[in-house]
Amino acid sequence: MTGPHPAILSQLDRLVAFDTTSARSNLALIEHAAGLLSDLGASIRLTTDDSGGKANLWATLGPADRPGVVLSGHTDVVPVDGQDWASDPFRTECRDGRIYGRGTADMKGFLAACLVLAPDFAAARLQIPVHFALSYDEEVGCIGVRRLLADLETLPVRPRLCIVGEPTEMRVILAHKGKKTVRCTVHGHECHSALNHQGVNAVEIAAELVAFLRRMQRRLREQGPFEAGFDPPYTTVHTGTIHGGTALNIVPRECRFEFELRHLPRHDPEALMAEVRAFAQSLAPEMLAVSPAAGITLDETNTTAGLAADEDSEAARLARRLTGRDDGGKAAFTTEAGLFQASAIPAAVCGPGSIAQAHKPDEFIAVEQLAQAERFLRGLLAEMTAP
Ligand SMILES: [Zn+2]
Repeated sequence: MTGPHPAILSQLDRLVAFDTTSARSNLALIEHAAGLLSDLGASIRLTTDDSGGKANLWATLGPADRPGVVLSGHTDVVPVDGQDWASDPFRTECRDGRIYGRGTADMKGFLAACLVLAPDFAAARLQIPVHFALSYDEEVGCIGVRRLLADLETLPVRPRLCIVGEPTEMRVILAHKGKKTVRCTVHGHECHSALNHQGVNAVEIAAELVAFLRRMQRRLREQGPFEAGFDPPYTTVHTGTIHGGTALNIVPRECRFEFELRHLPRHDPEALMAEVRAFAQSLAPEMLAVSPAAGITLDETNTTAGLAADEDSEAARLARRLTGRDDGGKAAFTTEAGLFQASAIPAAVCGPGSIAQAHKPDEFIAVEQLAQAERFLRGLLAEMTAP
């Protein structure tokens, strides 16, 4: 089995050297990729965030008047803060057949393979176009790709399918959970703790809500709904942060906490949210009796669609053909594929590297995985040039 083209390793080093941690700008990487692709004759569309400090790139090679194949990846990476790395996370280092560096698996390895193969796509007589979709802010809630998808709505031709190259070790993933994140703020009423009958204790109300979420999780774990192939095979509910109170002898005025629902793709999170809202409502009369300003607000900070792709969609069949694998599979992690699918662009997730290495210190991608990604793309190119 031959290794990947050496240019993929050097391109990966270039991409890793751009510190595109989600909190920072990704423009330098986007300019690099846009320059490379426009030199090949690609037509380029950019969409940015409100600040203009982050951008999505949409680049098309081949005949733009017909639906094409999207190769999609996010450019941002998770932070390295507090992580103990054996080497500089923003330089690649090859040890024992593995390339170490932040984002090598998630998911600059896939992007590097795409960029290195782009000249071959540009030189070929493509019967259908290829689109490169590079997004920002995936790691903080699939934010950027929503603008890219909104921009695509304005184009006369819709893409025919999308391959999202998140690390699946080149397995074809057709289903993943969706996610809803919520910030809850309990507005209480402050007073001396000796007179707590005159106050509304925001921390205690929040605790009731958190306990309600915990009971909900227990019920979902025991009673479902269940879907085999997911680990765990049910919707999860989790409270991640909580902040409230200033001193023990003060009835706390405010408490804030965040929770998330990671739901099976066919399990409606709105029904669960309705339960949470109803429980919050049930707590209101007792609070209002003490202070008219007391209350509970629930802000949905992010909603990312789950993926439940048709096993027989063109994206699924293409990915199975190119990988020669039929293992199917479901992922616990959320990707942009659910949003492509929700935009009526059939999507499958298939990319090099393992999610097990993502987000961790000493993140790596096996060189052999990059070779598999290259074979996948060369196979795609062969199909797209076939008459
Ligand atoms: Zn990722």
